Parts: sequence; C-alpha cells; structure tokens
Amino acid sequence: MKEKVTIQLKGSPSMEVSSQALNGLDALRALGIGNTDRLVAIKVNGETRDLSETIGSPAELEPVSMDSSEGIHILRHSASHVMAEAVKELFPGVKVTIGPAIKDGFYYDFDHERPFEAEDLPEIESKMAEIIDKDLPFFRSEISREEAIEFFRSQGEPYKVELLEELTEDMVSLYKQGNFTDLCRGPHVPSTGKIKAFHLTNVAGAYWRGDERNRMLSRIYGVAFADKESLDAHLKNLEEAKKRDHRRLGRELDLFSIQEELGSGLILWHPKGGTIRTIIEDFWRTEHYKAGYEIVYSPHIGKAELWQTSGHLDFYQENMYSPMDIEGQEFFIKPMNCPFHIMIYRSRIRSYRELPLRWAEMGTVYRYERSGVLHGLLRVRGFTQDDAHIFCRPDQIEDEVLSCLDLTLHLLGSFGFHEYEVLLSVRDPKRKEKYIGGDDTWDMAEGSLVKALERKELSYEREEGEAVFYGPKIDVKIKDALGRAWQCTTIQFDFNLPERFNMTFIGSDGLEHRPYMVHRALLGSLERFFGILIEHYAGAFPVWLAPVQAIILTITDRHIPYGRDLYKGLADAGIRTECDFRNEKLGFKVREAQTRKIPYMVVIGDKEVEGHAVTVRLRDGSNLAPISLEELITRIRHESEHRG
Ligand SMILES: [Zn+2]
Ligand SMILES: [Zn+2]
Repeated sequence: MKEKVTIQLKGSPSMEVSSQALNGLDALRALGIGNTDRLVAIKVNGETRDLSETIGSPAELEPVSMDSSEGIHILRHSASHVMAEAVKELFPGVKVTIGPAIKDGFYYDFDHERPFEAEDLPEIESKMAEIIDKDLPFFRSEISREEAIEFFRSQGEPYKVELLEELTEDMVSLYKQGNFTDLCRGPHVPSTGKIKAFHLTNVAGAYWRGDERNRMLSRIYGVAFADKESLDAHLKNLEEAKKRDHRRLGRELDLFSIQEELGSGLILWHPKGGTIRTIIEDFWRTEHYKAGYEIVYSPHIGKAELWQTSGHLDFYQENMYSPMDIEGQEFFIKPMNCPFHIMIYRSRIRSYRELPLRWAEMGTVYRYERSGVLHGLLRVRGFTQDDAHIFCRPDQIEDEVLSCLDLTLHLLGSFGFHEYEVLLSVRDPKRKEKYIGGDDTWDMAEGSLVKALERKELSYEREEGEAVFYGPKIDVKIKDALGRAWQCTTIQFDFNLPERFNMTFIGSDGLEHRPYMVHRALLGSLERFFGILIEHYAGAFPVWLAPVQAIILTITDRHIPYGRDLYKGLADAGIRTECDFRNEKLGFKVREAQTRKIPYMVVIGDKEVEGHAVTVRLRDGSNLAPISLEELITRIRHESEHRG
C-alpha cells in the first residue's frame, strides 16, 4: 500500500509523490533537482536534517549544499567523526570526547595516554583519506539514553557516558560510519566521500569541558573545505599567518615576553616594545587632547563598597580576582575603570555648563581568564585599555557620538587600518522589559549611533537584541593585511551606572538631571592592539612606529669616526638610531639589520666618508642613491610625520 507525500521546494508549488519511505535525497530528485553531488543535507520545514531522513507530509524542502556556510559546517563536523574513527583505529585504547566544527575546520578532543604530537598527524591524515576513499555512509539510529549509556560503557568510553548521564532526553541519536559510532545530534554528510579537501593542522592541550580542574585532553585541529582550491588558498594564508605570529615575532624582535615564573597572561614589555608603546600612547594622548578630552589617572584597587554600588560584585565577580584585606576592609583590583571616573565626576556638584566632560585614561585593569584561553598578547589577564568616559546632556549626545567615531577612524587609520566591519547592537524591540532605561532614552541613543554611522558613510550590521541591558553600542572590527577581522573599538551607552551612582548635574532650570554616560575604548587594549599591529605589519613597523628607525653600518674600523658624526646628527634630529661598528662583514651586518626589520640601513665606506654622504639600504632590499645626511633626516622625518 503506497502512501502519498506532499512535498515542495521552498518557494515553489507543492506536488504529491507516492512513496513508502521517501528520503530527503529522493524527494529533492523528485522535485527536479538534477545535480546532487554537492548536497550534504536537507532542510525539512526549516530544520536541517540528514539527506537520508524519511520525509513526512507535508514537507517544505530546501537542499543544503557544501557551498553554503551551513553546508560546509556540516561537512567540517562530519570530518571530525572521520578523524575520530581514524584515531581509534590507529591508537587502540584512546578515548573520544567531543568533536565540533569551528571556523574553517573542526577539532576532536581525545584522551590518550601520551598526548598527540604534530608527528602523528600525517599518519592520521592517511587513515582518514582511506576512510574517505571507502565512501562509507553515515547511519543514524535512535536509542534510549539508558541503552546508549550501556553501549558506550561497553566500548570503554567514559566521556560519552558522562555526557549521556547529564542529558535529560529519553531518546538519543547515534551516528555510525564504518567501525565508529558516536553520540551526536547530527546532521552529517551522507557519506565520507563528500569530504574532498581537508588537512590536519595542529595539536593542543585542552581541559575536558574547558575546566582546568579536569583532565588535560589532546586536541587535534583540522581544516576542511568544499574543494582543493579553497583548501590550498587557506593553507597558504595560514602559512603567512604563522610567519606573522606575534608571539614568534615578539621573541625574534625582542618586543615582549610572557614568563611562567611571573605568571600566565601577564605581559613584560621589553625596551623595543616599550618604545613602540610609548609612541602609541604619546600619539593617543595628543589626539585625545585635540579632540577635547582631558586625561585622568586612577588607582588599581578600590573598596568592595564601590564595586557593590557599581554592580560589579553582583554581575561581574567571576571575572574579578579575590579581594585583598587592608586593615579589615576588602579591596578588589579593578576589572574596569568606570567607577573611578564616576567618583571624579561626583567629587563635586556639576553644572550643565561644564558638560560634556570627556575623561580618558590608559587604564590598566585585571580580569580573570582561564589559563586555557590565554593567547599571547591577544588574550591576557592584565591589560591597559585606552579607556574614556563621556558624560553629557541629552542634547549633546549626537555630536559626542559623531566625534567619537571621527576619532576612532582617525586613530585606526593612522595605524594603517582602513577597512572595517561595524556592528550596531540595539535592543530587542519585542523584549523591552529586559533593558533598563525608557523608550525615549533608548530611541535617542540608538538614533544618535545610527546618525553618526550614516554621516561617516560606514556600512554596518544592525543586530537586534544584541545590546547589553544597559545601553546600545557600536563595535568596530579592523581588517588586517591578511583580511582577518579584529575587534578593537567599542562605543557603549550606559543608562545603568549613572542611576546606580545617582549622578546628576544642575540644569539651566536649576533642577537636578541625570547625565548620559558613554564608555569607549578605541584601540581596545594596548596589549591586544600591539599584537594585531605586529601581525598586520609582520614586524616591519612603519617608520613612525619602528623602535629603531636607522642603523649605521661601517665597512671597516676607519669609518667609525664618520659613523659617530652621523649618529650624532641623526640622534640630535630625534631619529631613533643605532650603530653597528662591529668588526664583521658588511653582508652579515645588513642581514642582521634586515632580520630586525630596521627601515633604514645607513652604510658607510671610503666613498661616503670622502663625499660626506651616505648610502642607504632599505629593509625591502632596495637601495637609495647616495644622499647627504640632511636629505636622509628630511626623508625619515617626512615619512614619520605622515605615519608611513
Ligand atoms: Zn556529529
Ligand atoms: Zn567604562
């Protein structure tokens, strides 16, 4: 007895087909989809399923191809199952945990007696290739949770048992390909052969469930793409990113270090890094003064009372370090600067005439981060925000937001970032009760952010419901030389703290009013921004940021006196200069200066001494025609001033 099923492609008329058990792939074919090679899944009434899923009636269907972001995600996740199968075959006794898809690829965490090493990857890759060649289908089955616990216990998979014991569902789904069965919701590609282009990239330690009290697992990362060309392009990019890794360059160029003996996530800025930081800070301060900011300073600790009033102890304490006791009172090290600036505001009565107040501070804060997530300069425990708070009247808010955005683009542009991704986070209009502050306040704040973005002709994404409960915000991500996006700037309204601290100003009507408050950090944190700069420039900083702008290289000892004169001339002109008068071959000195990515190598030999000139070699290997010292100074100064 044949049943009728009513199916339709999304947006097309429906049709009836008769079938006993119509699966997704057959249904798509029945609906006229000819080429199904690149299909990995199907949407059934909006829900993504396996192509082998039996289609009920009525069903609105949509093919999911590996060329879509959802499709490639499914393919990547499926690759993690294949990797787990390969690892289990190669390393008996290994225990499997979880294997999700991530950006560009996937990982799987294993518990193995010895942690996996990069040397293991080629073997695992070949085993995966075998499994893929066999084009094994992924079979889905549903069994009771108890049965699943029994099954994984019998397989010696305690992590799966632990996961299952925490589930509340009665039924769970398993997926099996070849000899490997995993607990998974799915969906997956129909068979392993769909995975055409993958590569295992690296191994890392990872705690079970990201908790350092748990066992350390061995994580293998891989990437997977829909075709070989995309994979190759990605791997090339990875190679380039590796060369630019700020941790490696930080060591090679002696910019900073992180030392276990001192503590994870805490940065030591070495002299060369310190020079760059000083230049960044000086520039930042100058531009802030020009934009009408004033600089303030605040302490590193504050009493528990303060953090109680600010709400940090109620809502942010898991990011704060344990308090210290000073004469019986609890003090916390600051995770944010805001309450301190508010205290300055509240130190006396404020009048409408003195608003807006724009107070900036390179404020060093400390936040608890699990050791597992720390990453070079990018994720740290102690960092300096280029923070500022703006306190203003409602009628000033539009101009303030606009000038904030102006300053953002000016600063980021000066550091060589001209491409941005902008996000506007606003309230969820259907759940207004979640947010504090009235409709008028929100409308005005959101309106001012939109107007500023429009006036700067910045395209942005509007994200409804992404605003935090206390105000809307703009986030700016910069794109680096490799096209990677990095979150830097946040311009954030706050309707909460002025209430909590009962901030007021006396209006022209003689009455007390509540000021608007905006938090903003433009570079984000100096540590993170420095990490981004290093990778963006691959350590070859533009002249204005280069810790050493010029190095004088002598050919023999008889050139040293002239070398000293040149050094004095350059140093007096404010050019950061070093001398290499060592008794080494010129080629050797040049190579070393090039490795240090010093922009100007000033070479002097007999000809230069006689002609009172210099020969200049640039770090890209090209040479300038012999010029005078004055010409060189003018050139370096000019380049520096234009921040080239
Ligand atoms: Zn899965
Ligand atoms: Zn703040």
